[in-house]
Amino acid sequence: MKTILVLDDDEDLRILLKAALEEHPLTVLEASTIQRADALLLEHPIALIVVDGQLPDGSGLDFLKRVREHDPAVLTVFMSRFYRDLKTFGHLTGELDVSLVLYKPIEVAGFADRVAELLGLEPREAASDVNYELSLSEQFAELGRQFGSRLPDRLAELTRAVAAAKDDSSLLSEAMVLAHRLRGSAGSYGYAPVGLAVGLVEELFDRARAHVAAGQRVFWEEIEAAIHQTYLAIAYDSSASSGFSTIGSARLALLVVDDDVDFLRFVRNTARTVFTEVVTARSSDEALQRTNERAFVAAILDVQLDHEDDAFQLARNIRRTAKNEDISIAFVSVDRRIQTRVAAIEAGGSRFLEKPLSKESLTEALQKFATQAQAQKGRVLIVDDDQDTREQYAWVLRSAGYLVNQLSSADLLIEALETTTPDVVLLDINLPRVSGIDVCRALRMSDRWEMLPILLVTAQTDANTRLRAFRSGAFDVIPKPVLAEELLARVGVQNDRVRLVKERSDKDGLSGLLTRRAFLESVQRDLARCQRESLPLSFALLDIDRFKDVNDSHGHLAGDRVIARLGELLRRRFRLDDLRARWGGEEFILAFSGQDAEFAKEATSRLLQEFSAQQFEADDGAKFEVSFTAGIAAFPDDGTTILSLIRSADERLYLGKEAGRARVVATNRAMGTPTLDIPRDEKEAPG
Ligand code: GH3
Ligand code: MG
Ligand code: MG
Repeated sequence: MKTILVLDDDEDLRILLKAALEEHPLTVLEASTIQRADALLLEHPIALIVVDGQLPDGSGLDFLKRVREHDPAVLTVFMSRFYRDLKTFGHLTGELDVSLVLYKPIEVAGFADRVAELLGLEPREAASDVNYELSLSEQFAELGRQFGSRLPDRLAELTRAVAAAKDDSSLLSEAMVLAHRLRGSAGSYGYAPVGLAVGLVEELFDRARAHVAAGQRVFWEEIEAAIHQTYLAIAYDSSASSGFSTIGSARLALLVVDDDVDFLRFVRNTARTVFTEVVTARSSDEALQRTNERAFVAAILDVQLDHEDDAFQLARNIRRTAKNEDISIAFVSVDRRIQTRVAAIEAGGSRFLEKPLSKESLTEALQKFATQAQAQKGRVLIVDDDQDTREQYAWVLRSAGYLVNQLSSADLLIEALETTTPDVVLLDINLPRVSGIDVCRALRMSDRWEMLPILLVTAQTDANTRLRAFRSGAFDVIPKPVLAEELLARVGVQNDRVRLVKERSDKDGLSGLLTRRAFLESVQRDLARCQRESLPLSFALLDIDRFKDVNDSHGHLAGDRVIARLGELLRRRFRLDDLRARWGGEEFILAFSGQDAEFAKEATSRLLQEFSAQQFEADDGAKFEVSFTAGIAAFPDDGTTILSLIRSADERLYLGKEAGRARVVATNRAMGTPTLDIPRDEKEAPG
């Protein structure tokens, strides 16, 4: 069994790392000082060392340098809250030959997997993977609770250290180490508010040391206020029974369902570079259990599951769980028939992967899912002339799942806003040539950027600057130096708000689908892309049949329920990339980018079958059924502009109504030969 040495002065963090590492066949030794680590290195053959950046008796960097001189072969992992700049990163991975650089707070489960991979350990048996994830998260939850109960003591210790430092300023460094440690472990245990509050204490200590060195008075009141904030954060965090919930939600998780253990292992190993967590399941039941518990970004489902398991049905059931409505689904199959592909798409699959599956095509699909998920989380544009600062913010934001773009000056800001369409902008106040405040004011004058959340970042935290910043239209002002936790919290607030507002204005309330405006905006983009890439794009325009009669005979509320039900079917049955909108009244519109008219006809016909098989109930208890008629048109055959395409679809819809309704019409000659005919009295017949 291989032996790992964990060198960190924070006992709580060591407990956590040890628990995660020991899920693998590994022996874990611990050291809290460099001196102790040196002794252990002499006594034991050690395969890998995990080192913290700052230790009580020296720097982790110096320790690594010494280790490298003596032993060129030993593997090393460096963990730190600081050293986020590219230069140190280059030094670590270059001269010091560090295999892995991690920034605190550490994502523990992923950490152990990556360490095991470095050591060339066989991935854990796929069969026990599900239990592994489960037992580990339970174990973490328990460790998190224990850590929570130790928090008050640790803060009391810090408070005493502050009192001592007040009498004797040479003790400031000791207090700072305590704050630093607490900040690191609070974050890793998922106690983000505590990490944030104590992070501020640490920064204040740092400034206080500079004051002492310069012979100035130390601002003890501020430090004490920050400590008080930490007490409040602890009270808040414990009542919210914190633990790992905050970490879990930020992680990119993938679900893989297959009964083939080798395939699970292959996906798990490939996905690990893209996703922070990969959960496997070997049956539909297992998969549903996982998806009921938590949200995944994407799922990979094998079409050929054992015995009764139907992967397409599983996909629908997964999208029905509250936490996974928006999950992206890829199907894998050895079956290449077109019917299977259509069924896959109809079940909500956005990707169809053929078995045997190459590492390249799997990676490509996973990458796309991950990028999509990040774009959904939010996009942040950072404008700052200092590259290190930009990189630091970008690291923090990316690790929380944001897509990040950077600019070194405001010169090209408008262009960047147009092309990257950020949800939040981080704007430095001191930019070359202009002030961030002026930039902010200028943006506010245009309709387009009036409501864009701009966060101004500044080292001048005086009331006057803050006031000027808010007056210029900034949504928030972030003081420098920026704490990682604070950056995430403040960006998160703005981002959530943008999402909410956007969601409200883009979604039709009754059907839950896009509004006409939102649809037109999105389809414009899709059409441009299909034009560029010479791909087809097809439309389906749907109109519910004899809807006036429904209202008249069964009441307006029953009519509303019909619209809501069709909306629900449309939400659940298609791929995430397929645009689905309520066009108005009882009319709906769909756009399938990359797909031709034949595909649209097939998919819409299946929808018609399913919809017309539904039973509705009127307020008086009467049962009734409803159908719709649809017209199909596709780019480029039927037109090259959105308007002409929709007009063409509308004409065919009208032809369908003329020909007797309840059908999907894809050509102008549909009158005589209906493309799909499901008369109301025969609609039980298979189609
Ligand atoms: P056809 O088969 O020719 O489409 O017949 P139809 O009765 O559906 O005709 P038409 O499209 O002209 O009528 C649509 C009706 O739908 C008119 C309107 O009162 C009703 N409607 C539109 N929006 C809503 C809504 O949100 N809720 C309800 N309950 N009814 C609506
Ligand atoms: Mg109508
Ligand atoms: Mg109608």
